[in-house]
Amino acid sequence: MPKQISILGSTGSIGVNALKVADHLTGELNVVYLSAHSNSARLIEQAEKFNPKAIAIVDPGAYQKVKNTLGAKKIEILKGREGLLNLALRDDVDIMLNGLVGAGGMEPTLNAIDAGVDVALSNKESLVMAGDIIYRAMERTGAKLFPVDSEHSAIWQCMAGENVNDIRSLILTGSGGPFRNRPLNTFQDISVEEALNHPNWDMGKKITIDSATMMNKGLEVIEAFWLFGFNHDKVKIVIHPQSIIHSMIELKDGAVKAQLGVPDMKVPIQYALTYPRHLPAPWEQLDFFTCGDLTFQEPDLDRFPCISLAFEALKNLGTTPAALNLSNDYAVQRFLDKEIKFTDIPRINEMIMNSHNWIEHPTLEDLKDLDGWVYKTVFNFH
Ligand code: MG
Repeated sequence: MPKQISILGSTGSIGVNALKVADHLTGELNVVYLSAHSNSARLIEQAEKFNPKAIAIVDPGAYQKVKNTLGAKKIEILKGREGLLNLALRDDVDIMLNGLVGAGGMEPTLNAIDAGVDVALSNKESLVMAGDIIYRAMERTGAKLFPVDSEHSAIWQCMAGENVNDIRSLILTGSGGPFRNRPLNTFQDISVEEALNHPNWDMGKKITIDSATMMNKGLEVIEAFWLFGFNHDKVKIVIHPQSIIHSMIELKDGAVKAQLGVPDMKVPIQYALTYPRHLPAPWEQLDFFTCGDLTFQEPDLDRFPCISLAFEALKNLGTTPAALNLSNDYAVQRFLDKEIKFTDIPRINEMIMNSHNWIEHPTLEDLKDLDGWVYKTVFNFH
């Protein structure tokens, strides 16, 4: 019996890769639900190929196009944000892959957990925003989280068979993005086009900007805390420009375990969907004779202040990680719209983090209020 899967954000970078995995594992995985934000053409193509039970599309204009093309088929078509949230609540699937972008991915994660459905989580913002709420819901329903983020997948694989108490620290690797060696005094001139040009990974726009500011690595430190329970003083970041080592664990006896491979998101996606198995796959394997030298360096915190902000947020917990994450979502949006400078992103994030109204154990309602305040404050920044 194949595993029944739901894919949120199916037309984005993670979703498209997940469908490539589903396509080569047809006997193992059956696609039941798909959701997209506004890419109607790609969603229609995917629905025709995978024949899901239902699909959701958030953008109203795009919904109309999907309805006009697929209306005669036996596929239920859901509309808007409510349609997406409804799809995430359905419990007739074994696992939901959350490939949504930004803080908007949080509620769908919670809906699936509430419905008792396991979540393969690419949307790290869910955990950064609401780790506390998500873990309490998991205790209630027994649903589990499987990391899709390549670093966390690597740590998960390294931890297999180890006693958690024997692990000294987690080592998250990061490529350092496109500005690892750019002179710091030219950072204020970084253009959107330059920031979107990532050396190793081909990803969506938001995470590509987060890689350029290294906010992504910072958010991953907070994500690692929730997934594996290691606090800020037990997580290290190592710059590894080749992105061959996806992350490591350091054991108390001095042993270090690493997980390696070509930088291809299909690998962690497939592992999350087929855990605990490593099934055969048709893509390129790591070739040690052509991959070149593997190098390492310390992260430069002056160059990438977002890393320090994330460690500080993890120390404060409460609403601080959520405030940082929301601020970053909106600041990145404004940078992509060419309204603010690259260097304004960390400045705004720091200002929001330090001036928001801190709550120790926020409810979902508190997080929504915070979202409203952060949105207003970031968009008023000049
Ligand atoms: Mg990652």
